[in-house]
Amino acid sequence: MNTQETNKEIKSKVKKLLSEMTLEEKIGQMTLIDFSVVGFPESQHADNPIDQAKLEDAVLKHHVGSILNAPYTPNNKAQSIETWRKMMLTVQAAAAKSRLKIPVIYGIDAIHGATYTQNSVLFPQAINMAATFNPELTFKEGEITARELRVSGLHWNFSPVMDIGRQPLWSRIWETYGEDVHLATVLGSSYIKGHQGDDFSAPNKALTCLKHYVGYSFPINGKDRTPAWIGERMLREYFLPAFEAGVKAGSPTIMVNSSEVDGIPGHANYHYLTTILRDEMGFKGFTVSDWADIKHLFTRDKLAASEKEAVKIAVMAGIDMSMAPLDFSFYELLLELVKSGEVPLSRIDEAVSRILTVKYQAGLFDLKAPFLPSKENFATGEAIETNRQAARESIVLAKNANNILPLKKESSILVTGPAANLLSVMNGGWTITWQGDEESLYPQDKLTIFKAIQKKFTGKVTYVGGNSFADKIDIQKAVEEAYSHDIIVLCLGEKTYTETVGNIDSLNLDLSQLDLANAMIASGKPVILVMLGGRPRIITAIAEQVPGVILGFLPGMEGGAAIADILYGDYNPNGKLPISYPRNTNDIVMYDHKPIESYEANSYKPLYPFGHGLSYTAFQTSGLRLEKEKINSGENINITVNVKNTGTLKGKETVLLYLNDVAASVTRPNKQLKAFKKIELDPGQVEKLSFTLTPYDLSFIGVDLKRIIEPGDFKVMVGNETVQFTVMKQ
Ligand code: BGC
Repeated sequence: MNTQETNKEIKSKVKKLLSEMTLEEKIGQMTLIDFSVVGFPESQHADNPIDQAKLEDAVLKHHVGSILNAPYTPNNKAQSIETWRKMMLTVQAAAAKSRLKIPVIYGIDAIHGATYTQNSVLFPQAINMAATFNPELTFKEGEITARELRVSGLHWNFSPVMDIGRQPLWSRIWETYGEDVHLATVLGSSYIKGHQGDDFSAPNKALTCLKHYVGYSFPINGKDRTPAWIGERMLREYFLPAFEAGVKAGSPTIMVNSSEVDGIPGHANYHYLTTILRDEMGFKGFTVSDWADIKHLFTRDKLAASEKEAVKIAVMAGIDMSMAPLDFSFYELLLELVKSGEVPLSRIDEAVSRILTVKYQAGLFDLKAPFLPSKENFATGEAIETNRQAARESIVLAKNANNILPLKKESSILVTGPAANLLSVMNGGWTITWQGDEESLYPQDKLTIFKAIQKKFTGKVTYVGGNSFADKIDIQKAVEEAYSHDIIVLCLGEKTYTETVGNIDSLNLDLSQLDLANAMIASGKPVILVMLGGRPRIITAIAEQVPGVILGFLPGMEGGAAIADILYGDYNPNGKLPISYPRNTNDIVMYDHKPIESYEANSYKPLYPFGHGLSYTAFQTSGLRLEKEKINSGENINITVNVKNTGTLKGKETVLLYLNDVAASVTRPNKQLKAFKKIELDPGQVEKLSFTLTPYDLSFIGVDLKRIIEPGDFKVMVGNETVQFTVMKQ
């Protein structure tokens, strides 16, 4: 059956089902509740924590069509495959008892692997996946995540985050693919394709959810869930394209920005949710609110005078499903609103049709088997190896003075710092628990940095540090130990966090970490700084005094092993920064800044620029050539460049191609990434790379807020070379 026929068939099934539904059944489909509404109190009936009576109240009495989260909010914890399976069978059995037998869809934040299933393959977080510049890896991450969700009986993943990370203070920047629009677009689309395939009803596929539409990632004060002020030109140029790409890649659901843009909360923004998303982008799936955010229009944002008004505003703005999530007030209020004629039935039918369509597309009405077999699909050797490779490619070697790295196998190493012996600091939030900070629940067989170094090196390896991030480190002891070791591996960073819990007031590191770093530097022994954590915390003073700097961010469960591979030289690093690493806490300038930001006394002077990352070998690009020097508007242009491995080791290199529109009616960035390619080369090997720039690549958002291409000159930059071409007037 071809897709068109399937769509036609689904359309008629949805129409028929809708015609049989009562208003109550329809509104139930629009209600998403948290596990805790249907669960036993925490730690009761751990092997299947669903309370049948509560479940029936939700699914049969309130006709609820979707549930989210792992037991037990807010202390959500990863469950075993067996527990998930029992839970899912219980949930679907309740749905099967309902009058129309509409299946429940269960959603989960599997943002770096199946986070809430014990022993799943937990990948580097998105900021690291971005540092790989490798869409094959996000594709594989998508495939593996979907498989592991389906083993657990789960179908709906609240991922990928398509927000653009241009505010480093923000506590969720690490959930993004970094500051660049093109990179996020490519990697996010590839993840979706891996996760969903061509048909997300396949037994090993699951549906994705683009979030948080739109502008959530750019709070002006840096705190999570605080206002963004984004003008529509900036919105269209920086924040919408990744969502648009996600829609094109086939993601059938979108979660809405929990905060506000330009004075309008995401959940009340008709212009974004309907005019742009539906009429312009052509999104056909359903939108889901974020956590309690319809209520928040009344209780927090004071946009509505009552919760009832909030429900009306949100539904009429274009929210199809409410993550209610802890009670049935949305259901009850919307029922009243429709009965009184304040919300038209046509709007309900529209929302419910979208939800049912996705449920049909996901194959939920006709599940051949409730679960994918675990043996060949869960935590397979191949998946773990892919994860290790992703971790390796995600780590950025930022400084390597006098080739201090790789270390000699027999070196004696002092490992210290609060990030050295914890798995949580490498995984971040949404790992096993919401905040990711329950170290005792982490798998025992995974290696911290210290343990991985100990396993690999033949010389003496000593660890001085605490057992948690809060423990005070005995600096005196570390200094004494330093004298009897060749090298110090100093692991600093941040304890894990997400959302408002992770809000901070400064990017500076805390004093205790700075004191330790200063003492280690003062010992006179060479120090390799390894930074972990979700944000670029300020390390300038340390980085200037130490010979080696590795930026690990959140490399996931295989992060310790991958860092040891790089320290040891078992793996030649190739990660590149997907953000500009700031030199100072208020020096926040992106690589694609406007000319005025590097004019007169202004400059772009991050500690490490976007795209920075060293290798143990060296690469050189040369011979940058354009196929033509003049093109007509609407034509593609082809570009070639040679890249050579000029060093002595095999290695991978990502070649970045930037564009600058020389003069335009709206100021243009000094440069913007438009294409990249990652290749592996043997020493001395040369490869010719070809790139094609499309009309879209040359376009920008014009004075009238429409995407346009203006005739004139364009510069193409690769490495140290620049070439120029002209788009002719027609
Ligand atoms: C977060 C979302 C998440 C949702 C469900 C919210 O608080 O902002 O990213 O998907 O919770 O867990």
